[in-house]
Amino acid sequence: MYNELKTSNRILMGPGPSDAHPRVLKAMATPLIGHLDPEFVTIMDEVKMMVQQTFLTKNHLTFVVSAPGSAGMETCLVNLIEPGDEVIICINGVFGGRMVDIAERCGAIVHKIEKKWGAVVTTEDVKKALDHCPKPKMLALVHAETSTGALQPLEDISNMIHNAGGLFMVDAVTSYCGVPLKVDEWGIDAIYTGTQKCLSAPPGLSPVSFSDRAVKALENRKTKVQSWFLDLTLVKNYWGGAKRAYHHTAPVSSVFALRESLRIVLEEGLENRWKRHQDVHQVLKEKLENLGFTYLVDEQYRLPNLNSVFLPEENDEALIRNKLLKDYNIEVGGGLGAFAGKIWRIGIMGESCTLNHVNLLVSALEDIKEFKR
Ligand SMILES: *Cc1c(COP(=O)(O)O)cnc(C)c1O
Repeated sequence: MYNELKTSNRILMGPGPSDAHPRVLKAMATPLIGHLDPEFVTIMDEVKMMVQQTFLTKNHLTFVVSAPGSAGMETCLVNLIEPGDEVIICINGVFGGRMVDIAERCGAIVHKIEKKWGAVVTTEDVKKALDHCPKPKMLALVHAETSTGALQPLEDISNMIHNAGGLFMVDAVTSYCGVPLKVDEWGIDAIYTGTQKCLSAPPGLSPVSFSDRAVKALENRKTKVQSWFLDLTLVKNYWGGAKRAYHHTAPVSSVFALRESLRIVLEEGLENRWKRHQDVHQVLKEKLENLGFTYLVDEQYRLPNLNSVFLPEENDEALIRNKLLKDYNIEVGGGLGAFAGKIWRIGIMGESCTLNHVNLLVSALEDIKEFKR
């Protein structure tokens, strides 16, 4: 026999998932209804409107992919790329690399802008790439690189790619509802995010949005979208249109949770939420630096909600991280790729972005005998 499901009461301060609000967990436990029930159709409409409000967009083609952030990434790429298309993709961490892998599987000719992990892409870098590839179908990059804690400025690059006649695609999984993000004002044509980072909902859904320019590119396709499940021409009739047609069975309980988390964001207000992440980051930063931690990313490009830090010298990062989890129930993230074993990634996202979380982490560190300041 298996035991009843039970987990430890963790405090989530890693790269996601973040702590979920009890209201969100309660919404998940709402009795199921059918996914084509008129009540559920209303809920889908409300979720779509709240996603538009939080993305700051009027895009009609805005909806939620029934799969995690990576599927949002794949949705944008498979729908906008046809075999032989030339695209520019920026890589300054794990997720840019993942975009390249997907784009190549779509048959794209990928021109990479590769930067040191922790750095951001500059307009100079984009200019050079456009010299090599003057007429790209699109340029894709990551707004908030969760593997490094770097925050990528977007507006100038958006103008450059539009002047070259291409689409601008952005990964906003970690930036959404944590730092300023303005889809229409910044001219973003395709964007995807996730639910488990600054939105503080359970993982497994990916809000996405496409501009009219992107919709035109979709309508002008000469080939079928490689993926049946992610083909927007099919999914859009499920999330919109006068008559809802069955496409797949929406994850009803997850949509309930997403709806509640979006309500919480709008109650707080986007601007207040951005400010809260910045303010709590400031306190965390001072306390970490007092303990001897140093930041990976230059202050100017630092993501407030994902703090990538080197431990003070002579600390065994894995040992301390395990102690935090086992003895204090606090999860922080380890490094990825080149930074595995070298840095921590401390997330203060959504419900995990409070002074209480900061104080718990800092006092736990002060309490751990093996931690050397
Ligand atoms: C977490 C993350 C993803 C992937 O999201 P999943 O929900 O894990 O599939 C993509 N991009 C960035 C920047 C992320 O932080």
